[in-house]
Amino acid sequence: MSAINQSGWRPTAPQQGGNAAPTFTGNKALMLEEPLIFEIGDNHTTGVEVAPPVTATSRLGGLARTAAIDLPGLSEPETVRHYTRLSRQNYAIDLGLFPLGSCTMKHNPRLNEKMARLPGFADLHPLQPIDTVQGALEVIQQLAHWLVTLTGMHSVAMSPKAGAHGELCGILAIKAALEKRGEGHRKVILVPESAHGTNPATAAFAGFAVEDIPATADGRVDTAALKARLGPDIAGVMITNPNTCGLFERDLRTISEAVHAAGGYVYCDGANFNAIVGRVRPGDLGVDAMHINLHKTFSTPHGGGGPGSGPVVFSERLTPFAPLPFVEKRGDHFALVEEETAQDHHADSFGRMTAFHGQMGMFTRALTYILSHGADGLRQVAEDAVLNANYVLRSLSDVLDAPFAASGPCMHEAIFSDKGFAEGFSTIDVAKALIDEGFHPMTMYFPLVVHGAMLVEPTETESKATLDQFIGALRSVAERARAGDETLRTAPHFAPRSRLDETLAARKPVLVWKAPETTAEAAE
Ligand SMILES: *Cc1c(COP(=O)(O)O)cnc(C)c1O
Repeated sequence: MSAINQSGWRPTAPQQGGNAAPTFTGNKALMLEEPLIFEIGDNHTTGVEVAPPVTATSRLGGLARTAAIDLPGLSEPETVRHYTRLSRQNYAIDLGLFPLGSCTMKHNPRLNEKMARLPGFADLHPLQPIDTVQGALEVIQQLAHWLVTLTGMHSVAMSPKAGAHGELCGILAIKAALEKRGEGHRKVILVPESAHGTNPATAAFAGFAVEDIPATADGRVDTAALKARLGPDIAGVMITNPNTCGLFERDLRTISEAVHAAGGYVYCDGANFNAIVGRVRPGDLGVDAMHINLHKTFSTPHGGGGPGSGPVVFSERLTPFAPLPFVEKRGDHFALVEEETAQDHHADSFGRMTAFHGQMGMFTRALTYILSHGADGLRQVAEDAVLNANYVLRSLSDVLDAPFAASGPCMHEAIFSDKGFAEGFSTIDVAKALIDEGFHPMTMYFPLVVHGAMLVEPTETESKATLDQFIGALRSVAERARAGDETLRTAPHFAPRSRLDETLAARKPVLVWKAPETTAEAAE
């Protein structure tokens, strides 16, 4: 495979391992083969020695288990090795670039971790007396202040625990506002075709009917079609900006004015705020509610690395309906407002999203990130993220079809389609071959408006050298897909497991381990 490389990255010679005899263990040097814990453990081994229980009369009324529990037993070092070996088969943001579009998988600065682990934050209990957690409340209040400032909105609900949870929070506030106005009959929420699946799911879950808004050929919301649909049954719209095609919705202010004039509300999906933070304030675009994924824009770990956090910012008109609790500064004291109070700005709160106050560890990390970057640093985050995505887009547009490249520069993510691949080759073949190249695949087949979509978000934290290596790898794989290289169909070849039957795995998942004589079926 000669990787014709325009971006300056020189690939090293491919690893030749194919001719070597298989090893006795199945291991390939540091690539260790690891069976299931059930296959290596047994009932007779244990890592701990427990004294036999003092016999006492059981109070379980004959329900106590008498047969062996059949959990695998391993010694302590075997247990540690098992999980360490498995962990080495994982990909992680600390290993390499994670090009997942829409996910904003960026470096998690270690300073954030240091702050979140300070005992005064890490050892808190949500039911501690308020007087003993003044510092934590101050962190929540300061983060709230910066989120409101950065978005140009009026207030923020900190408790939602992820982006999708934030969407639900925003839509429930809209619902409460409509009911208060006596307009609970407005039952339709308009959502663009390119939206993340959580948007229509949220609207439906909250009891609304969802209708698609078509996109224009340049990948943006069709404003004329949207305006034509506005009327007395419309509760609001959910619009992602920048959208999931990586494009800024330039008409958002016009759209907001039209939606407001027709009596509806504007929900903005803020998952892509990374691309515009410090440059654009959604409040200036007429947005009524928007979630912020702290685990995307503000660098708190996500995926396997940590829980999400999805604070929701509100316009002045929706603020009375926002959920409790709120942290408020009263003199030099921080109060947690947990009840609706007529004199406060959350007089008509729709209730609570969570039992307690939200993801404290994520708040500490996000505030650390914001304060350590400062205003100029956050603006540069957006600029560098956009620059990196455009570098990827332009470096590959001769080998990958870029459907919106003619619409001008992209924002924080570059989108490609499978047009031009040899007959029978699809995006999944490219994604799987990227695993052999040592990269996590990009987002595939999303958004649905692009055929065989490949959505690449490099983020601002990747260097030019890393981007060049990724571009070189994707270029090489794309050329193989165009040429119809049959070996692509069975990729990955170097991963611990090769191509799986993903349809069968999804339709007939084998979730319970059974003893060997009955596993023949499962292994098929
Ligand atoms: C990530 C994402 C969401 C959902 O956020 P979670 O924190 O994963 O619940 C919604 N919309 C878009 C565009 C996203 O990228």
